[in-house]
Amino acid sequence: MDSAPKPLKLFIPGPTEVAPEVLAEMARSAIGHRTPACAELWASCREGLRRLFQTEQEILMLTGPASAFMEAAIRNFVSRKSLHLVCGAFSKRWYEMAVACGKEATAFEVPWGEGFRPEALDAALAMGDYEAVTLVHNETSTGVMNPLAELAEVVQGHPEVLLLVDTVSSLAGAPVAFDDMKLDFCLAGVQKALALPAGLAVAAVSERALQRAAEVADRGWFLDVLRLVTSNQKEQSPTTPSTAHLYALQFQLQRIFEEGLVARWQRHAAMSERTQAWALQQGFELFAADGFRSQTVSCIGRGDGPDFVPALQNLLQQGLLVSNGYGKLKNQTFRIGHMGEHRMSDLEDLLSRFESALQVGEKVQ
Ligand SMILES: *Cc1c(COP(=O)(O)O)cnc(C)c1O
Repeated sequence: MDSAPKPLKLFIPGPTEVAPEVLAEMARSAIGHRTPACAELWASCREGLRRLFQTEQEILMLTGPASAFMEAAIRNFVSRKSLHLVCGAFSKRWYEMAVACGKEATAFEVPWGEGFRPEALDAALAMGDYEAVTLVHNETSTGVMNPLAELAEVVQGHPEVLLLVDTVSSLAGAPVAFDDMKLDFCLAGVQKALALPAGLAVAAVSERALQRAAEVADRGWFLDVLRLVTSNQKEQSPTTPSTAHLYALQFQLQRIFEEGLVARWQRHAAMSERTQAWALQQGFELFAADGFRSQTVSCIGRGDGPDFVPALQNLLQQGLLVSNGYGKLKNQTFRIGHMGEHRMSDLEDLLSRFESALQVGEKVQ
């Protein structure tokens, strides 16, 4: 046996725990990326993702972080003007990408902890001739989950506007129905509720979005969705894909469908409810506004509760990694990721250790 230190158990909102049998799939031998075996693997992953995104439309995959497809959304679906719903760090990143790509980007920003209401989106869309709007379904930095179906319905009242959605930390942990919700581009990574190591970006794209892309100039090369679609016809990637990720994804998708999507969503919702109740019992407050609380990650504020910073350190010494707040929310909030492989029993174990760690901290003070 090796003497490497035991890995930390991840209760951060990504990357998340990976099941040992999924990890083992990544150790399979590399295969040539232009071989029939790879085409079969590629096709099988795309078929599974189609089921996960609940779509009959095109599925794209690219070796890279989820941010690659965030930038691709801007470069492919916006010629000039875009609207960006900003409620935290990741939604802000999407706006900044549009600015960096030279678009006339408008940010519609609400205070961190808040989400977007349908009426507000409707009013914002009426104010400009936007080609597309970006929405982060689950804002991982603040624990806010936006009402995807309701917001998507509003966008349908603005037929020229494409709806581009980031479901990086919600896909496979909360309902996302690409066709029913009439989304145009929906992207995710695999290191959050899908519970694989980071390194693969996945997306569903609508026919009308592809038509729009054909009219957009300077889409670039690496992130050109039309090039990805052309390669898909041969069940290939234009560039060398991480076959390790494809093996793991194929296997993980099977495990997800064995559990059942509805059961999986319910498991996540139950862990979120339990975490929220626990936080309030400790005297903490929930950072996300009522009605916008995420079912994959809880962002918890100090409120009248004990100082949690030493407790995070104590948990770390026990091999449990919980996130401090993101960016400007550091030391004011912390985040518990309850997604992917975690079961209620894992969460109960964490919460009881957390409670003890908080009590130790209180005695020291
Ligand atoms: C983690 C995350 C990202 C970024 O993912 P990368 O794979 O690091 O690019 C984007 N959006 C959301 C909502 C996230 O949670």
